[in-house]
Amino acid sequence: MSHLFDHHGAENTGYSQPQGLPTKGQATVPKGLIRKNQARWPRLSEPEMVRHYTWLSKRNFGIDTGFYPLGSCTMKHNPRVNEVIAQLPGIADIHPHLPEHHLQGLLSIYYEMQHMLEICAGMDQVTLQPVAGAQGEFTAVRCIQEYFRLRGEDQRTKVIVPDSAHGTNPASAAMAGFEIVEIPSREDGRIDLDALAAVADETTAAMMITNPNTLGLFEADISAASAIVHAAGGQMYYDGANFNAILGITSPGLMGFDAVHFNLHKTFSQPHGGGGPGSGPIGVKAHLAPFLPGPLAARRTPTAEERSQAVDEHWYHWLEPEHSIGKVQQWHGNAGAVIRCWAYYRRYGNGLTTMSEHAVLNANYLRHAIHREAKRIGVDHLFIDGAETDIAKHEFTLSMQPAKDALGISAMDVAKGLLDRGYMAPTVYFPLVVPECMMIEPTETESKDTLDTFAKHFVEVLTVDPEVLHQAPITTPVRRVDEVYAARNLCLRHPFDDA
Ligand SMILES: *Cc1c(COP(=O)(O)O)cnc(C)c1O
Repeated sequence: MSHLFDHHGAENTGYSQPQGLPTKGQATVPKGLIRKNQARWPRLSEPEMVRHYTWLSKRNFGIDTGFYPLGSCTMKHNPRVNEVIAQLPGIADIHPHLPEHHLQGLLSIYYEMQHMLEICAGMDQVTLQPVAGAQGEFTAVRCIQEYFRLRGEDQRTKVIVPDSAHGTNPASAAMAGFEIVEIPSREDGRIDLDALAAVADETTAAMMITNPNTLGLFEADISAASAIVHAAGGQMYYDGANFNAILGITSPGLMGFDAVHFNLHKTFSQPHGGGGPGSGPIGVKAHLAPFLPGPLAARRTPTAEERSQAVDEHWYHWLEPEHSIGKVQQWHGNAGAVIRCWAYYRRYGNGLTTMSEHAVLNANYLRHAIHREAKRIGVDHLFIDGAETDIAKHEFTLSMQPAKDALGISAMDVAKGLLDRGYMAPTVYFPLVVPECMMIEPTETESKDTLDTFAKHFVEVLTVDPEVLHQAPITTPVRRVDEVYAARNLCLRHPFDDA
């Protein structure tokens, strides 16, 4: 144990101020704001400081410390070669204000990344500006809004979402000022075309949906859904958080979508969690391209004069779309995240298709392994599989409602029990349409052995005395917290004894 504030080193150790700052008498800080007492900086030597942060890192759980089957979030292995490439001086030290002819390397990476994503999505133009999936959603919805405004179709004020949608979909549309129309899913969790046809009309701006959907099921009727929305004059928006299931196999363009976002930090690796940093590029069909936020990386053949400066025969440059909605992020988005994902894609190449195939195979293997184990020890009646007789895509849902009814074991109990067995918990209570939902996504890089062992542990949790399980987790640095209390009573400072 080596807590930062538990060291009481000599005064003025552990930090030093640069020379030449104004002294007390000539302070530029307004009088009322000047400290009366010296700040209680921790006083540590360098090794104590190192121990503190190492100690903190060991209290964390991450993809590098264990299996992380967090559904919907795609927490996959992040190859270290990405870091090496992102930290090359020619990339990491670039200043965003450098003139274009000094930026040909970065621009070529941006250009290639846009182009690769355009092909994967079946879209005509990608922008790398947004830095999260949710921001991509908002950006695309705003582009759609401007598109209709320019066409004089201001009456399109509604966005349709299925009741299984990720919360960011209705939130992004609402932020742009749209009214949300929610449609119920069918019994099997898929889109209800009749319910869609009943609400799609001349007030519809767009439908937002992901495929495979949030239950990990492929929406086979997606082209029919696109046709219904297009016939009503609306646009189709693809939530790309589930790209890990379909890359190189099909594309939103083929399904009839007009706009998509990518979560590069999910599909293309990039350490994420804890709020960032991420990258949420969007791709659109040609009719929406003039509204994208700039700058976009573009390419043209250089003039003879330019050729003398250019690093290769192509001349890359930044481009502002004609009717751009404006920037949604400073500079060129999260360049570091884009570079890591570019490095990842360059290593995989056409193997990205294999990545998706393995992600789907692993999910279905794990799903069946859990059933097999549950049957073996006789607890297979304690959960319901969201995919049932179907094939799941890269993730699947289990409803713990039967376990709750029979034993009082909730999805939250199972999640906490898994923490004690050294796993990150799967996603719980999402999507909302599945009662006591657990959503599991193994990703493509986990071995058969890891999946088999996890299946055993998962099922074993259901055999624990419910009274004992309610106490879990007992092995983690922090036990089960009262989440409502924690959210309402934020404590963001160190509690000094005398404070
Ligand atoms: C993660 C996710 C989002 C939002 O993406 P962020 O990058 O976290 O903002 C949207 N939809 C689905 C289905 C997701 O899983």
